[in-house]
This record gives sequence, structure tokens and C-alpha cells, in this order.
Amino acid sequence: MKKAIIFDCWGTLFYDDINPRPLDKFAAKLGRTMKDYSYLKALEKNLMLEKCEDIAGAVRNLISDLDIETDEKLVKELTGILENMRKSDKIRPYPKTLETLKILKDKGFRLGIISNAIYPDFESLDMKYGLKSLFDVIVLSYEEGVIKPDPKIFKIALKRLGSGNSETLMVGDNLKDDVIAAEEQGIDSLLLDNENKHPEFDRRITSISRIFDYLR
Ligand SMILES: [Mg+2]
Repeated sequence: MKKAIIFDCWGTLFYDDINPRPLDKFAAKLGRTMKDYSYLKALEKNLMLEKCEDIAGAVRNLISDLDIETDEKLVKELTGILENMRKSDKIRPYPKTLETLKILKDKGFRLGIISNAIYPDFESLDMKYGLKSLFDVIVLSYEEGVIKPDPKIFKIALKRLGSGNSETLMVGDNLKDDVIAAEEQGIDSLLLDNENKHPEFDRRITSISRIFDYLR
């Protein structure tokens, strides 16, 4: 019987309603894509492990980690993309997200978030959608100094939720960082594939409202 549900945030509960997406544009300028896992981890390491005030500095470190020659014009362009993303008011919940979370809360589930996030993006989401009143526990990479799939971030969330591994369900859109990483900690998990990227995967839902099929 599950007592607690932990959600990933970006790509699971919320998305950028901007075309092209800022982080895709950012990756393309570096000759990478967000599907490139080693690039994703380098991005997260440089921008999400602490409350990053010096964006240009973090961008320079990322460029250097990727072994690309630093070029101030590129640093400026990339910094501009991130700064515009921060100012954007086009972050939206996927359909049924808020409604389903409220039903889960009313049913008595403890709700958590584990997010690899760039400061202060999560704060603006919270202000707009009241996430701190909806979730019992919010674990953010830039506050803990640890990013998924590090087991430590799952342990922190379980401890704060007061929930055992077998009583908890993890739900996320990233196969490695959310689904497999949670399973490795003995936590059952579910791929929430809003954008239909992994049709081959078994334990998958394409809308959050289908979570109830797995909670019976
Ligand atoms: Mg995600």
C-alpha cells in the first residue's frame, strides 16, 4: 500500500510553453541536445547544484567542462537565454496536473517533489501555483547540493516524508534519473511520458490522471 508519492517537476508536472524551448535552444548553441545524457549532467552540475547567482560564470564553467573553447560572445548569448527563461511567464502545468495532485492530497497521500532545478525557477513556480501548500516535502538540487540520480537525494526525500521505500511511488519523465534511479533505491516507479518519448517502456502513463491505475 503506497502512502507517499514523489514527483519530478520539469517535464513531469510542468513544461515551458515556448517554441523552441529555451534549454533546447541553449543546447543547440553548444552543438548538443537535451537527449544527450552526458550533456544534461554537465548542465545540471554547473547550474543546479547551488543557488547560482553568477549565471555567466556557470556558463563559462559548463563550456569548459564540454571542452569547447570559451568565447565571450557565446557566453553572452547563452546567459541571455537563461535570463530570458527566468523572466518568462510561460511555464505551464500539463493538463490534469493540478487537479490530480489535489485529489491525491485529499485521498491522504503524502506528496513530495525531487527536482534538479535552476535557482530561482522553482520559487517563481511556487508563487504562481502555491506548490509549498500542495506538497509536504520539496527537495531541490540547488538547496541540497546533490542532483538526481544520486541516491542521496532520494534518501533525503524519504526521510522528510517519513515514508519507507516500499510505501513510496516515484513518478517522473526521465527514465534514468527518475525511474531507474528510484528502483535502485527499492522505490517503485512510474514513467510519466507526457510527450510520448518512450512508447516501448512498460510501466508508463501518458497523463498524470492515470496514476490511479497504479494505486489500487
Ligand atoms: Mg524531468
